[in-house]
Amino acid sequence: MRLLALVLLLATQALAFPRVGLHENFTRLVFDLPPSASYEMSTEGQTLALRFRGVKAEALDESVNSDQVASYQVVVSGAVVEVFVRLKAGMRVQSSVLEDQQSKRLIVDITPEEARADPSPQPKPAPAKSPPKPAQPKLVVVIDPGHGGRDPGAVGLCTGITEKLITLDVSRRMERYLEAQGVQVVLTRSGDTYPTLDDRAQMADSKKNLFISVHVNSSQGCPGQAQGIETYYFGELLNPSLLEQVIRENGGGAVGQQLTRVARSAAQRAASDILAQLNLRFSRELAYTVQRRLVQATGAVDRGVQQAPFYVLRNARIPAILVEIGFANHATEGRRLADPAYRETIARAMGQAVTSFLGVGSVAQR
Ligand SMILES: [Zn+2]
Repeated sequence: MRLLALVLLLATQALAFPRVGLHENFTRLVFDLPPSASYEMSTEGQTLALRFRGVKAEALDESVNSDQVASYQVVVSGAVVEVFVRLKAGMRVQSSVLEDQQSKRLIVDITPEEARADPSPQPKPAPAKSPPKPAQPKLVVVIDPGHGGRDPGAVGLCTGITEKLITLDVSRRMERYLEAQGVQVVLTRSGDTYPTLDDRAQMADSKKNLFISVHVNSSQGCPGQAQGIETYYFGELLNPSLLEQVIRENGGGAVGQQLTRVARSAAQRAASDILAQLNLRFSRELAYTVQRRLVQATGAVDRGVQQAPFYVLRNARIPAILVEIGFANHATEGRRLADPAYRETIARAMGQAVTSFLGVGSVAQR
């Protein structure tokens, strides 16, 4: 019996794909492969992608949350097994293969960029007395203050709140906070101008790490009844009552309707695109991180995280969200939004959520 238990134990261990080892300064992923298996490996932004042929694995979605790795996902599609690993900020990937006639083992180590210890015996240039530390690649966050210029966004006539002014002020406060944490910030607008939604979306390219669009909500009437904070990631419209809001945030009127149609078909396409799905999963994770932090810091009503076809988010290949930080036309919330101290609280909470999501704190501690 004991032997059987041992065999079963070994069998289960062998089934784990990958096996994950947490070490003091690195996370190790071990892939046990048949000798005939092949694989490719690539990194884009903070995602490490591995594509295997000739292996058997089960679909998985696992949180790791080590200092180096946030999570990984195993996607099985026919004969191909793909593993997507979301790395924390500033990580490097090293791999090696151990091989004999019966088996092949791929070992992938994820270490902080600054702990670069190059074990390969390559000839090196004459060593300086104190070798300079490799510079930490700077994280870049795109902040999009909603509306601007000819487009005021939501206007609370009874509260005196104009969305475009609030979104710009909160975004600039968040910029100051993040820059102080060593994160580079790109604003889609820094004054009262109107970049098109395409201009804004284009700034969320894969050289950036994250995109966050800041908006203020509104409801019927003034004062209106609705209040609270909600955060969105991109996806199909599951809740039809959001359609009016989505059209408004997509530019309003005929333009808003047209762009909403485009965004909805992009959402349908994304549903069958593995990379887009993976990015949406990260975006959802970011949305929950931001939403939690905002509600905690402000005590505002928690309207939750939802998905919706916001045009500005539709092509993002980096985690991208849209945050509605409150209602312009709610009597109490409108008054709070008018208060610079409250806007600072909101900006900091979003900034903290962003640094925590990107793993900035854990890198800085080293
Ligand atoms: Zn808006």
